[in-house]
Amino acid sequence: MKSVAGSPDSAHLRGATPSCKGIWIPVFHKWYQSGSEGIEAVSQQMTNPTFEQTTARSRELYARALHVLPAGVSYKNRFLEPYPFYVESAHGSKVVDLEGNQYTDYWCTHLSMILGHSHPKVRKALERQLKKGWNFGLVHELEVRHAELIKHLVPSAEMIRFSNSGTEANMYAVRLARTFTKRSLIGKFQGGWHGGYDALHCAIKPPFELLPSGGLTRGALKDTLVLPYNDLRGVRRIIGKKKLACVVVEPVLAAGGMIPAERGFLEGLRELCDETGALLVFDEVITGFRLGLGGGQAHFHVQPDLTVFGKIIGGGLPIGAIAGRQDIMERMDHTKYSGDKYCFQGGTGAANILTLVAGEATIQTLRDEPVYDKIDRLGETARTRLQEIFDRSSISARVTGIDSLFAIHFTKKKQVRDIKQFGEEHKRQSKRIFTFLLNNGIVMLVPEHLHAAISYSHSEDEIDALISLVEEYVKAQAL
Ligand code: PMP
Repeated sequence: MKSVAGSPDSAHLRGATPSCKGIWIPVFHKWYQSGSEGIEAVSQQMTNPTFEQTTARSRELYARALHVLPAGVSYKNRFLEPYPFYVESAHGSKVVDLEGNQYTDYWCTHLSMILGHSHPKVRKALERQLKKGWNFGLVHELEVRHAELIKHLVPSAEMIRFSNSGTEANMYAVRLARTFTKRSLIGKFQGGWHGGYDALHCAIKPPFELLPSGGLTRGALKDTLVLPYNDLRGVRRIIGKKKLACVVVEPVLAAGGMIPAERGFLEGLRELCDETGALLVFDEVITGFRLGLGGGQAHFHVQPDLTVFGKIIGGGLPIGAIAGRQDIMERMDHTKYSGDKYCFQGGTGAANILTLVAGEATIQTLRDEPVYDKIDRLGETARTRLQEIFDRSSISARVTGIDSLFAIHFTKKKQVRDIKQFGEEHKRQSKRIFTFLLNNGIVMLVPEHLHAAISYSHSEDEIDALISLVEEYVKAQAL
């Protein structure tokens, strides 16, 4: 086994040098090769006898997975302690593992299955399409129709380009903003998660100076300014007179704790961008079609120059999209622009028909059925009642969220405005509740941060069951 010498955090802080205000540039990455997140870490994971009793096949599969998939998974968020359960099927609000154990799923495919799993309308549309082929690599009618539908529902999306993931779409949005403005600097927020693209892959969680991955070069990050969320004065202080290509912001910090922008924050960013010539980019990978058909921009009444979409617009199949003002988007038009005035975007899976079929059927259902009425109401119930439970207990916690999204933070603060407060106590409590819920057939993710999305398939009874279990957990703590 490789040994982990010293604390990675302190090693990093020792090797960091401050660059421009708001961003630290790493000098040494050595501890990343020390295996601190490698297989040996897995062997030290906690046990969970209740879970292990019913998931023997998952344990066997995970033992095999460890030999072929780093950490045994394809995304670290999917790793559960002591090992993940393997999903065999998913319908409605439930996922079912290899043993037939059912879990009520509040993870909803990284928050993208807003209708629930295998929704009949989406499935029928996919089945019809499968008979005709699934990725042509040539243009087809649906990419026009899907773009028209999104444009109709999200007025700032004058033109659209489809890609394969939110990460990819963010990468292209930044490239497009840089092409259009001929500037290099970009702004992103503490706690903002935009996927794995190098220039945005920093300051995801505290301590913000610590990079979340190796391989992020000085070059990739030197033009990134890290800004404080919900703190307009702080943002203005850091940006000063600097000329930014764009400011990338989530209308709700999603992976960063389901923390909505406060009143005036997005409006202030809009004004700041207008004053300085920077483009305002909303990363609506989570909020798009989640906070209603118009997404975060309609909810908060602020119009961005560019929007990044993902998840729901592909019905839970892999997707991303860049959308926005025509004059900006046209820089992706190779028939109009060339050289450094042109911005490349594209790829093998871009606008693949299977994803767009699922996306179209999903958005049509969101438009035609009272989906938001139901999921937002259930979300409100969950947030209010969970907060009441914690308020009556000795556990200090705040329930954040908006509409059908919520998260639980273990903190003594009365208000959660950013994720600076995530500490060891928060992680410890989150993991304990996560495990308790998992053992009672409920899955939320990720274990260290209790995040949840409600889908159209969730029932009031399921929300009640979740709330009762949390209450039971909290009461047991007091004994
Ligand atoms: N932006 C936001 C706001 C996200 O939450 C995510 C993923 N959860 C991404 C971008 C990255 O999307 P993907 O995982 O499809 O690359």
